[in-house]
Amino acid sequence: MNYLSTRSGLSADFASVVASGLAPDGGLYLPERFPALDSATRTRLGRSDYAEAVAVVGSAFGGDVLDSRAWRALGEASAAAFRHGAVAPLSEIDAGHFLLELFHGPTLSFKDYGLQPLARLLSMLGRADRRPLFILGATSGDTGSAAIEAFRGREDARIAILHPHGRVSDIQRRQMTTVTDPNVLNLAIEGSFDDCQRIAKAVLLARVAKGEETVLSVNSINWGRLLFQTAYHVHTACRLAALGRPLALSVPSGNFGNALSAIIAAMIGAPIAHLIIASNANDALTRFFREGRIETGRVRETLSPAMDIQIPSNLERFLHLLQGRDPDRTAAAMTGLRETGAMVRPESGTAPPLSIEAASIADDGILDTISRLYRETDRILDPHSAVAVAAMRGAQALPGDALRISVATAHPAKFGEAVARALGFAPPIPAALSALVQMEERYEVLPADEERVETRIAAFLKALP
Ligand SMILES: *Cc1c(COP(=O)(O)O)cnc(C)c1O
Repeated sequence: MNYLSTRSGLSADFASVVASGLAPDGGLYLPERFPALDSATRTRLGRSDYAEAVAVVGSAFGGDVLDSRAWRALGEASAAAFRHGAVAPLSEIDAGHFLLELFHGPTLSFKDYGLQPLARLLSMLGRADRRPLFILGATSGDTGSAAIEAFRGREDARIAILHPHGRVSDIQRRQMTTVTDPNVLNLAIEGSFDDCQRIAKAVLLARVAKGEETVLSVNSINWGRLLFQTAYHVHTACRLAALGRPLALSVPSGNFGNALSAIIAAMIGAPIAHLIIASNANDALTRFFREGRIETGRVRETLSPAMDIQIPSNLERFLHLLQGRDPDRTAAAMTGLRETGAMVRPESGTAPPLSIEAASIADDGILDTISRLYRETDRILDPHSAVAVAAMRGAQALPGDALRISVATAHPAKFGEAVARALGFAPPIPAALSALVQMEERYEVLPADEERVETRIAAFLKALP
C-alpha cells in the first residue's frame, strides 16, 4: 500500500514509512486507504489469537511487502516475547467493565505492544541499501526501555537512548542501563528531558546528513507502532463482539497514539461504538474534543508522567482525517499552531465512525480511583490506567447496555510511589523488576552539549562491525 504525508502530496511505500519518522515535508504518514475487514474476517478474529490479528491488520496495510503467513509468523514471534499467553488479556473489574491489560511485555508498559513487533518487522524487511538501522531517541520514562528491549542484540540495528541524568525513576533507569548488549548505548544527559530531546533531534539530523545508516526515531509518530496498536484494538473488539452489546473504550492518552489506533481500528470495521479520550491534568485533548480548540501551554507534572504532554503529536493525523485529507489545510493548521499557539477544530469535517468524548482526571481523581478499586476488588491500578478507569466511570453518553473496556497501560510496580500515596503501601514488585537491582548498570554521563553527544555517538557507531 502507498502512504501519503499529511502536509503535501508526498508519497512513500510501506517499507520506507516504517523505517522513518517524519515525512521530509514535516508531516506524518497515513495509508492511502483504510481497507474494510469483511464480517467473516471479523468473526474469525473473534475466535483467533493475537498473531492472527497481526496477520489480518498487517496484511491490510502492508500486504504488498509480506504475505499473510509472514505477518502471522511475525505475530507469533512477538507474542512469545510477552509474559501472558493472550498477550493483551481482558479482566473484569465490575459488571460489564473490563480492563484491557497492556502491561505484559518485557518492560511492563504498553510501549512494548508497538515496539516489540516493530523491531521484528524491521529485521524481516531488511534494507535494500544494506545500511544498518540506527535508532535514536530521548526518553522521560517508558519509551526508552521498551525500545532498548525491542532492539537489543539485533545484528542489523544500533540504538542510543538519552535520558535526563537523575530525573527518571530508579526502576526506569535500571530497565535501560542493565541492558549491556554491545549494540545499545545509554547516555545520561546533565539536563532536562527537553535538553535530551533537543540534542537527540540535532544528532538525528547530523546522522541523516552523513547517510551511513537508516536513522529511525522511536517516538509515537512511527506508523509501524500505530499499525500494531490497531491490531490489539481490532482483536479486542472482535473478541467481545459475540456478546452482542455496544463497546465503549477508554484510553489513557498522551501523544494520542493509542487512542488514534482505536479510531483506525473502527475505521477498518472493528465494532467499537464509543471512545473516551482520557487525559490527566494536562487537558489539551479534552479541550480540543469538548471546546474545539487547542492551545499550547505549560506542561504540568502529574502522577501519570507518561501523559504529561502539551501538544499530542498524533493529533495532526486525526485533524488530517477530519479535514477530508486535504494536505493544504493540515499544513496551514499546523503552521498556525506553531505561529499563534492555537488551533481550532474544523467545523465541517469527515466524521469518524464512532462517537468520541473526552475527560481530564486530576491527581486527586487518580489517587481516589486507585484506592477505590483496591477496596472493591483487591486490584492495584497504575496511575495511567486509573485515568482511564476514572474517565470510564464518569462517562456521560454511554448506552445502558454498553460493555466498557478501560485500557491499562502500565504495571503498577513501575509507578510504585504514586500507588503508595493512594494505598499507603507500595505494590508488589514482579520478579522481572526486582532482579534489576542486582544487575550491573552501564551508562555514561555527558553534559547537555550537542557536539559532545554527537562525537560519542559517532564513536559508538564506528566501533560496531
Ligand atoms: C505512552 C503511555 C501513555 C500514552 O499513550 P499515547 O499513545 O502517547 O497517548 C499512557 N500510559 C503509559 C503507561 C504510557 O507509557
